[in-house]
Amino acid sequence: MVAAVQRKLGVALVGLSGYARGLLAPALQLTQHCKLAGLVSGSREKAAAWQREYAIPDRNVYTYDDFERIAENDDIDVAYIVLPTSLHAEYAIRAAKAGKHVWCEKPMAMDSAEAQSMIDACNANKVRLSIGYRLLHDPLMQQVAAWAREQPYGKPLRLSAEAGYDGFHGVPGDDWRLDPARGGNPLYDMGVYAINAARHASGMEPVAVSARAEVARPEVFRGMEETMRLALEFPDGLVAHCVTSVGEAMNRLRVECERGWYELSPYQFYDSNRGITSDGIVLDATLGAKPRMQAQQMDDDALAILGGAPSLAPGEEGLRDMRVIDAAFASAKAGGARVEITRG
Ligand code: NDP
Repeated sequence: MVAAVQRKLGVALVGLSGYARGLLAPALQLTQHCKLAGLVSGSREKAAAWQREYAIPDRNVYTYDDFERIAENDDIDVAYIVLPTSLHAEYAIRAAKAGKHVWCEKPMAMDSAEAQSMIDACNANKVRLSIGYRLLHDPLMQQVAAWAREQPYGKPLRLSAEAGYDGFHGVPGDDWRLDPARGGNPLYDMGVYAINAARHASGMEPVAVSARAEVARPEVFRGMEETMRLALEFPDGLVAHCVTSVGEAMNRLRVECERGWYELSPYQFYDSNRGITSDGIVLDATLGAKPRMQAQQMDDDALAILGGAPSLAPGEEGLRDMRVIDAAFASAKAGGARVEITRG
């Protein structure tokens, strides 16, 4: 076991995206249990620049067309999918069939059927699937989840989670985040943070959701939602109010319990998240400056593979959020009607 844990896993980034460029590649330089070993890109120029920067040999560079050849490459253990959301399922399944472990960015997929097909492909090919839920590796979120189990302030009575940014101004260009068919939607982009936080801060799985969509600037958000408001109903009657937006900045998680409250604000930044409790405890146990959170996530996921331990964010975790998202879309379409969330 010790020898196995000392081996570093080779990670290929699939999509040399903004997040891969700014956070994941730098984080891979900080990890102890994995390393940047391969690149998959549609841009020859970009791949060449990355090769020079990270000393990646030609044999470890792929295009989307020859991606399957990754199966023959022993330098690469993991394919980390960092593509627009509409491509997650296709590339996760192709990677699994090539015999590579799969890490996939959030949101896991466009819907729960796609998410399930990713899980099935990974199981069938005996590879691991983890979702890039970096906050589940953050001690602050872990503290809130522990309080949901241990209830030092009593049962949660009110819960709210907000996740949004003010990201789009002027005339929209060809940005996949503004194209619903490629995954443009606040629920996909930021809503997963609010939904995931509500699930972990309550310690329960929601049973139903009522959702409403708003568009304040239809000239920017064409044919898509700008802000979504969700009421998540939990089995004990708790209702979590979640708001998510790609037109307004918001970043707060608040839990009011029988004997006090706690709040993280912000809770989903890359670093500097912090909070406070009703009895004056300051919550600031951060992992350090960015990209330490991403490094922790990838080291945790690598150790889970190397040691045969469960992942903190397996495919099933992403699937649970996708089921909430499916129901939220159905509810918004039905004018905010209560929609039950499918259970597995
Ligand atoms: P970008 O828009 O910066 O990049 C997407 C990349 O995907 C492109 O650079 C391109 O890479 C590749 N690509 C392949 N096909 C297409 C296509 N049809 N349209 C557009 N791009 C294409 O994406 P982000 O980095 O912002 O997001 C990527 C993923 O990471 C998303 O799932 C997002 O939700 C997630 N993310 C997660 C964050 C987190 O905190 N966990 C933060 C930010 C994003 P190439 O040129 O190499 O082919």
